[in-house]
Amino acid sequence: MADSVLRAAVNVDIDGLYLYDRIHGHTGSAGNAAGFDAAAHDPRAWTRGVPRFLDLFARAGVAGTFFVVAQDLDHADVRAVLRDAVAAGHEIGSHSLTHPYDLSRLSAEAQRTELFAARERLRDATGQAVSGFRAPGYVLSPMLLQTVADVGHAWDSSRFPCPAYQAAKAAAIGLYRATGKPSGSIPEAPGVWLGPRTPYRERLPDGRDIVELPIGVLPGVRWPVIGTSVIVAGELGRLAMQPVLDRTDWVNFELHAIDLLDHAGDELPARLLAQPDQRVPLRSKWKVLLRMLERLAATHSVRTLGQWAQTV
Ligand SMILES: [Zn+2]
Repeated sequence: MADSVLRAAVNVDIDGLYLYDRIHGHTGSAGNAAGFDAAAHDPRAWTRGVPRFLDLFARAGVAGTFFVVAQDLDHADVRAVLRDAVAAGHEIGSHSLTHPYDLSRLSAEAQRTELFAARERLRDATGQAVSGFRAPGYVLSPMLLQTVADVGHAWDSSRFPCPAYQAAKAAAIGLYRATGKPSGSIPEAPGVWLGPRTPYRERLPDGRDIVELPIGVLPGVRWPVIGTSVIVAGELGRLAMQPVLDRTDWVNFELHAIDLLDHAGDELPARLLAQPDQRVPLRSKWKVLLRMLERLAATHSVRTLGQWAQTV
């Protein structure tokens, strides 16, 4: 029912494989942005993950949003996949220039450089203005959100009001620190954990505001509605969640490109098994995500984040 009052959006953060090494404290594989050769990175999140998402979205009949780390466009194969996504009618959002996990703690000038350069590069590559932004690791600060608006974005989709996720992330970061392999991630301020669950306008330091489209959680329990949680729960878990999901007024279903990589079939490095959903075979992941999207398209009005932002 395309005119459903229940709103939904589907989106994919295209985090290159090199970024997972930063989260999990590995070194030696593009440990930080300085000196990183984006043209030489392993492009399989793009060349295998994204085309599968294009197939999945076509099967489910939905248009989505892909959040792109702009430096990845140094890679010719990446540029080709980006063109395919745009040609298929999907929206492109900015996921910063180099995906620094500590972006919210960088200087105002460094933040502006990251966001401005990313938006320019994405506009040049797609021929379209890039209206939306998602912060690396979903972590914002008032100054960063101000910069998001200042470089010309109309909306942000980084708030993740999910106590279970945020607490687990804070615990994992502490664990990595304790074992002497500091994670590149930083925790989000606890005030965000119970922030608004549905789209709203967030006040900026300069007094203006910006549309915020929070990442999906179920009402009440605030269980995360993201690729990782659905894949790890599996088809039975999805069916258990489905009656609540069917009535949830805002579903911002957030996925990652590696959600449709196949650990065995794509011969991925063993260190990626630190991601819980990497142990699930591609066939199972594909099935649960397709059923979830088909159901979402039947119960909700599925539009891109940019389309929803215009209604807030
Ligand atoms: Zn990311």
